[in-house]
Amino acid sequence: MDEERLSAALLELEDEINWDAAAMLERAVHLEREARALGDELLVARARLAQANLHMRAGDVAEAAQRIWKVHQWAIEHDARRLTARTHLVWANIHRHLGDAAQCLEHSVLSVELLDETATDHMRIWHRAKLGDALSLSGSMDAARLRYRQAADLAIRLGRPDLLLAVLNNHAYAEFAAGQHEAAQRLAARLQEVAERHGFELDASLLDTIGAIQIENGQHAEAEKTLLACIDWHNDGNQDDADALPEYLLTLARAQRGLGAYGRAQRSLAASRRLCAERELGNVLVRVHQEQAELHAAQGQFAEAYATHKLFFEAHQRQYSLQREAQARTRQVMFETAEARQEAERFREQARRDPLTGLRNRRYLNEQLPGLIATDPGLTVAIVDIDHFKRINDELSHDVGDQVLVQAAKLLETELAAIAPDGFVVRLGGEEFVLVLPETPVARAVDRLDGLRRTLRGFAWESLTAGVPVTVSIGVAGVADAAKPTQAALLSIADQHLYAAKHGGRDRVVWSGARLGRASAA
Ligand code: GH3
Ligand code: MG
Ligand code: MG
Repeated sequence: MDEERLSAALLELEDEINWDAAAMLERAVHLEREARALGDELLVARARLAQANLHMRAGDVAEAAQRIWKVHQWAIEHDARRLTARTHLVWANIHRHLGDAAQCLEHSVLSVELLDETATDHMRIWHRAKLGDALSLSGSMDAARLRYRQAADLAIRLGRPDLLLAVLNNHAYAEFAAGQHEAAQRLAARLQEVAERHGFELDASLLDTIGAIQIENGQHAEAEKTLLACIDWHNDGNQDDADALPEYLLTLARAQRGLGAYGRAQRSLAASRRLCAERELGNVLVRVHQEQAELHAAQGQFAEAYATHKLFFEAHQRQYSLQREAQARTRQVMFETAEARQEAERFREQARRDPLTGLRNRRYLNEQLPGLIATDPGLTVAIVDIDHFKRINDELSHDVGDQVLVQAAKLLETELAAIAPDGFVVRLGGEEFVLVLPETPVARAVDRLDGLRRTLRGFAWESLTAGVPVTVSIGVAGVADAAKPTQAALLSIADQHLYAAKHGGRDRVVWSGARLGRASAA
């Protein structure tokens, strides 16, 4: 597969609402492998986000939370806005599962704010609808309505009746959950009207929402019809969540109880209970117990109603603590991942510093210098080497030698900060340092570097070295000095100049133009 086809395949996973999560997860894993083979990091990140999202949809929120960090970090570091917008939406869903309405809202807002010209139509519509969900979850129904309306208008304008249906569904459900049954009813009617006009069959989840709204409005006969159609649709082998059927049967039972058709209601409820047991759907089972208690009560079977209610209460408590445990697990994973990231960051930073002096090390230089050379024609580098350092070690001690290195490093850093604020000092090893001076052409740099040399010599070393002098020799090279400016070329020129400085008598600065220092100053 080439990049373009892989990207299109990923888009199918990204811009889809109704998935069979398990099958899609396999596909996403496969696509990640393809993306790795191509060496395309963005495609890898997209495939990984699709996996995190699918883990969440399959109910494994902790797994999703663990996976999303890296993708999110990568997306931000690479300014991949479309991917960042998508990761915020997944974050929002994770927080919704955790019951954290505030965090859910924050990420939903970002998932909309980050939409730019690279966003797909699907994102433009769906991210707004999900922001509506987040707002309604946090109790701001008016603000939610505004977003649902924007999403619906966009869906119409962009010619996406499929998404319009999804938006209307979520809006209807939100109104329903907020107790706004009339508004929910109006939206359900519009849902049916839109589906009819565009020749869409209403899928089971839409029918289930409509049925629940009808029950709430006392239209039990219509609700039973809706739910029977819903179950037919599901049983026709249409793509649907595996655990959806017991939910539909439960809604059907409620409609039938409302009709007074207690026999039918009991049969629907028993079927739902059986499926819950088979598929270990504790969540739905709790509501099956609740409905069973209602059904007993409706028939005047108060002893049974009471016993079933107790069953409901226990199941509810159990489910509640299970949910709490799952939330705690997800939070723990999120916390540990954040910790691990900070740890990795600290390690990364440490690995780029010299432990004795705290200066940057060669690894850091190798990472930074090529980029600077390529982009800054005014870049200058200088190699600084302490003169006769062996004498300090030999005549005083290795420990004093270390202290001299630490002090010299401090002086180099403060001096360089004054010459080139964006520059940095590297300890190459031993008593050898490299100064990197961005936007400081050699002719200007050498003057300042000679000042630095004098400052080092003039430092009050006596207390440390008991009179043994500390001086440095400096070899300088600018990007303009090299025929072909590479890191190797630049450092080699600076090294030749350092060699010349040593041979010229030490304690001086040498560059391609002239030499400065003790000899010329004398
Ligand atoms: P020159 O003026 O030609 O540069 O002479 P030099 O003595 O400074 O140069 P040379 O390279 O011969 O010696 C460098 C010495 O630095 C040798 C080594 O033992 C010492 N050295 C290297 N790393 C450290 C360190 O971390 N601490 C201490 N105290 N000494 C070190
Ligand atoms: Mg030396
Ligand atoms: Mg040396």
